[in-house]
Amino acid sequence: MKRILVTGGAGFIGSHLCTKLINDGHSVICLDNFFTGSRSNVWHLMDNSRFELVRHDVTVPFNAEVDEIYNLACPASPVHYQHDPVKTVKTSVMGAINMLALGRQVGAKVLQASTSEVYGDPIVHPQLEEYWGNVNPVGIRSCYDEGKRCAETLFMDYHRQKKLRIKIIRIFNTYGPLMSKNDGRVVSNFIVQALKDEDITLYGDGSQTRSFQYVDDLVEGMVRMMDTDDKFVGPINIGNPNEFTIKELAEKVIELTGSKSKFIYKPLPGDDPKQRQPDITLAKEKLNWEPSVYLEEGLIKTIEYFKSIL
Ligand code: NAD
Ligand code: UDP
Repeated sequence: MKRILVTGGAGFIGSHLCTKLINDGHSVICLDNFFTGSRSNVWHLMDNSRFELVRHDVTVPFNAEVDEIYNLACPASPVHYQHDPVKTVKTSVMGAINMLALGRQVGAKVLQASTSEVYGDPIVHPQLEEYWGNVNPVGIRSCYDEGKRCAETLFMDYHRQKKLRIKIIRIFNTYGPLMSKNDGRVVSNFIVQALKDEDITLYGDGSQTRSFQYVDDLVEGMVRMMDTDDKFVGPINIGNPNEFTIKELAEKVIELTGSKSKFIYKPLPGDDPKQRQPDITLAKEKLNWEPSVYLEEGLIKTIEYFKSIL
């Protein structure tokens, strides 16, 4: 049994990760400031004596005797991370410093939940870990992209300079049950709109692409990465390489929900990446991992979840 800290543990991905770690027999401290996460996401774990929920902000130092730290705290939806962009940068940068300092103090291994956004609006397609990206440093997405890039830098420098054990994963678009209905990202927006027979909001002409990964696949990849040899630190892409246009996603959601919703077109937000697809050769080789849930199968489970909460 390991003692594990999960920051952002009451969020969408964090709550799935906490559940897996508890089910695997570990002891978990879930730390969250509840900006986009909620207690209800981890309610089912509250009676477990190996689970502890702590209200705390990662921009403030935190102390606990743990063996591993998964650093997930950061709003991930453009709507939320652009709400208070200065706070978003602080969360990524100060959060990374505080978790790395804690790792150093107690000798814990620290994993950073980085993102495909470090590739920005990519010119290289699909995206390989060696690609340095095409990121606007002064745009409306920069608080998230540059905050996450700086966090990666801090992780690598703590590793090289202070010999800390670290891991960096770059997560590609992930969806599934426990996404908030007000999250603002495309999968939850489309499903909620379709279930209410409201207009489906396509930003731009819907030709931009994303590659959607079901949350269970991601959580499996995260834990496998944490368990790799100390010499392997990443960064490593964790995503599903099946690429779809946003319009194709909308059509799939309409088909699976049997909705009467119509498409409406809204302006494309600034710096919205035109294409995104992970190259997962490294994950296959180093983690013996690849996603196993097809989009349709994952969407059906996610639609069932939203039906149960709407
Ligand atoms: P989410 O918004 O559901 O979860 C983020 C959690 O962090 C929330 O519970 C929130 O309350 C908490 N949080 C935010 N700021 C905090 C702070 N200052 N102190 C403490 N807690 C704070 O988003 P998610 O989709 O679960 O994303 C989790 C992590 O994975 C994020 O770091 C995100 O950048 C990364 N990621 C997610 C995706 C995706 O598609 N879901 C893709 C790439 C990377
Ligand atoms: N998008 C959309 N309608 C929505 C929400 C998002 O067309 O209601 C688009 C958005 O412009 C982007 C894609 O869907 O091109 C994915 O958006 P999301 O916010 O889910 O993730 P990210 O842009 O961070 O990959």
